[in-house]
Amino acid sequence: MENQKKDISRRQFIKASAIAVGSVAAIGIGVKYVQKYDDKADFQKILRPPGAILEDDFIYACIKCGLCVQICPVQAIKLAGINQVLSYGTPYINVRNQACDFSCDSLQCVETCPTAALNFVQFKEEGEKAVEEYDKTHDYKNPGYNPFKSQIKAMKEAVKMGTAIVHEKTCLATNGKGFKGTPRGKDFKGIYRSPNGKEAKASPLATKEFDREICDLCVTECPIGEIAIIMDKTESEGKVTFKPKVLDGCTGCGVCVMVCPTEPTSITIEPKKD
Ligand code: SF4
Ligand code: SF4
Ligand code: SF4
Repeated sequence: MENQKKDISRRQFIKASAIAVGSVAAIGIGVKYVQKYDDKADFQKILRPPGAILEDDFIYACIKCGLCVQICPVQAIKLAGINQVLSYGTPYINVRNQACDFSCDSLQCVETCPTAALNFVQFKEEGEKAVEEYDKTHDYKNPGYNPFKSQIKAMKEAVKMGTAIVHEKTCLATNGKGFKGTPRGKDFKGIYRSPNGKEAKASPLATKEFDREICDLCVTECPIGEIAIIMDKTESEGKVTFKPKVLDGCTGCGVCVMVCPTEPTSITIEPKKD
């Protein structure tokens, strides 16, 4: 297994290096290969990794080195193929297959990007505010004091890849239905760290069982929590209805999309607009 992992990593690295070399050569001969988003495209396939700068700048700033792909512990980031609606070799996340669950805890893809195509600038203000708040309520002389906890929380919450959208027509909750079992089947390969368990790192969704009277997986598995998504319960004339409600704190990480048991998914991500 370890050898297989290393082999995959080696192959990914070779692929990434080849793409990087190819890109430099292309620039060298003055080729500008740019594809813009297509309105008809499947937007789940063209979400950029956390911290991505505006799309028009990203396609120039990203050198297609693949380091963000290499570093992601859940392997959420892939490089776009020639037929995709992105500039060839640039990174994207298809959250239905593998969401960014933030289980690296430090936004390693952003840390590792050599060109600042992914960068922390957008998180700086929120991060500083959160540390200030944390400092007000915690005694730094206490051995348990950990300023990194608040920084990590602030960084995750400040990410804005996109926003989740609930599709009420097929959503189990809005149709008053529950869910029992393994959401995407036993062969599904996606992994994530559940916010409800004591998992230190991500584990396969295929090993997780749920039994919900009213489906609420998108709500309970969201790594950001109640500032991102809640289950809206309303009562009228003796009838109770449910609806997942996405809030401003949604980061677009896509864990809700990955865990949604309906086929097709009843929740999708709209990437942030320039
Ligand atoms: S986003 Fe940064 S790390 Fe990722 S491929 Fe582009 S330049 Fe490399
Ligand atoms: S996981 Fe899917 S089906 Fe279940 S409540 Fe959320 S959107 Fe609806
Ligand atoms: S609702 Fe939660 S899980 Fe879904 S994209 Fe937003 S932050 Fe991620």
